[in-house]
Amino acid sequence: MLRKSIMGGNWKMNKSLQEATEFTKKLISELGTYRDVETVIFPPFPYLKMISSLLGETDVALGAQNMFWEEKGAYTGEVSPLMLMDVGCRYVILGHSERRQYFGETDEGINKKIKAALKFQLTPLVCVGEKLEERKKGLAKEIVKSQLTKCFTGINSSEVPQIVIAYEPVWAIGTGETATPKQAQDMHQFIREILQEIFDKKTANLVRVQYGGSVKPDNIKELMQEPDIDGALVGGASLDVDSFIKIVKYGEF
Ligand code: PEP
Repeated sequence: MLRKSIMGGNWKMNKSLQEATEFTKKLISELGTYRDVETVIFPPFPYLKMISSLLGETDVALGAQNMFWEEKGAYTGEVSPLMLMDVGCRYVILGHSERRQYFGETDEGINKKIKAALKFQLTPLVCVGEKLEERKKGLAKEIVKSQLTKCFTGINSSEVPQIVIAYEPVWAIGTGETATPKQAQDMHQFIREILQEIFDKKTANLVRVQYGGSVKPDNIKELMQEPDIDGALVGGASLDVDSFIKIVKYGEF
């Protein structure tokens, strides 16, 4: 298999400690030794250590929803890559559209974060995607190309296969409106073309590209049938453990 599928559950700012514990225990009982698909959950920061202890050596991995690029220092409210490593994270979401929209994140900042994540062997899951107005104006590909070019500046081609890209059209996030498999495939193929332009064909073929935007148990299967879709980053539907398990095990339903 050229690229192993990867499913991520981004909880965003949701769940109590008790809900997080119950979710994780059930997830482990169903997916603790499931290796067909790489499974990662992204709980809020305060729960990471506790969930890391629960996950232990299971096949479910842990990630954070964001981090800062510096290792330590006077950056009130920020969390460093070293801290994430210390509590057992192996992945980090970078450049989610909600971070771009509400917290002013830029491609330049995301680029620094990708470099910092790679330095500490955290797998960055880099989000790109156009807004509705941009798609309506026919600018979707231009926007995604510009985001990718800026986010990948100065990154060595040997490091690129460690990065996961999530194509998340902003108009499909939390709206219930999913890109059609054809629309998603078209952009995923384009993303690979851009990676080939920036790096080379071999590198482009090794990078996993997830789709994100209102993924649910009933639409995952057809999305995964597309050749350039290597998994999903799931928000809303990842909050319910049964629905997330169905998404991860899409091949069995
Ligand atoms: C997300 O926030 O990454 C996401 C894809 O959300 P949702 O699945 O709720 O659209």
